Amino acid sequence: MSGWTIYCQTCRPTGIQCGDCAERQQARRRPRAYWKARGRVLKAAREAGASCALAYDDVCTGTPTEADHIIPVSEGGSHDEANLQATCQACNAHKNLLSRRTSHPRQATRPQPRHPGLRDTPDTDTVLRSHGIDPEALSAKERAAALAALG
Ligand SMILES: [Zn+2]
Ligand SMILES: [Zn+2]
Repeated sequence: MSGWTIYCQTCRPTGIQCGDCAERQQARRRPRAYWKARGRVLKAAREAGASCALAYDDVCTGTPTEADHIIPVSEGGSHDEANLQATCQACNAHKNLLSRRTSHPRQATRPQPRHPGLRDTPDTDTVLRSHGIDPEALSAKERAAALAALG
């Protein structure tokens, strides 16, 4: 299997794996410990009659068939049972999609929750002036230090 790269029709011509293919490849490389833990997590969920742990509103099919890494492997999450949760295939795929989009927050399908009581953060110059400090007289470093001191 070494030296063998997974491509789909879309990414084969480019010679660069797309996200889906990279993920599929990564999944195949998972150690036996993962597959064992996955089996236990899914069995436990089935026996408990648990439904999907992620339960994304629009996509969830309810029946857990996948073991999702709570902390993604790419972020140092382990293949231990403690880091796996039973989810449906649709939510698992949806979560992967969302995590891939985190570098482009505007594309996220879920709007950020609003906090009506929260006002816009005043800009730092205003904050400093309100404490009798002239922001113009400070270097960037001094400004940061002054703001940190003010909390
Ligand atoms: Zn591909
Ligand atoms: Zn689900």
